[in-house]
Amino acid sequence: MILDTFALPNDVNVISANFQLSIKIRGVKVIVELEPSCWVGRRKLGIYVRGKNLYGGSIVSKKSFKTSTFLELDMLIKKIKLGKCAVPGCKGNYLKTNQIIKTNSKRLCAKHFELALNRHYRKVTRKQHLHDSALDDKKVKLGYKYKVIVWIHPKNGDDYFFKLYYKTKPSSLQIKKYAIAKKSLITNDYKIITLMN
Ligand SMILES: [Zn+2]
Repeated sequence: MILDTFALPNDVNVISANFQLSIKIRGVKVIVELEPSCWVGRRKLGIYVRGKNLYGGSIVSKKSFKTSTFLELDMLIKKIKLGKCAVPGCKGNYLKTNQIIKTNSKRLCAKHFELALNRHYRKVTRKQHLHDSALDDKKVKLGYKYKVIVWIHPKNGDDYFFKLYYKTKPSSLQIKKYAIAKKSLITNDYKIITLMN
């Protein structure tokens, strides 16, 4: 195994944060690096595997980085397995680790994984759009004339938005109060949409 070239004693942890190895698995070149920041604090030793047209992923040891030796690293590297992409005729591979199979359950190469993901998102947004207009129609029938999209920018976490419906055009202060109540850092990020009859 390539690691033999290090010729280091097993009881000394000298794994460099810059560790990188290029190996061939079933004739496919893969790059093995340490999982980002796994050397910080009490985190577990982990490797990150990537390759051309390969949906990359990690393999993590039960041992902490601090107490790990090259022997553990070697054991992780030996766990790298590839399988053929499930799309008939595709020459690509997928990484066979439990964690990867969870997200890439169809066992696809990176290219086919992306394609499947895009198809999924297109379906979701189309559904969301349909749902949106159905709700608008319902509100119009109830006498609502305006829809306001208010973006909330919380101190922590991702931005999100609320949809508010009004029968009379709301003032900017009215909307601002709403954003303040939601503890948004920005209180003027909104859009008023006039609903169609
Ligand atoms: Zn493929």
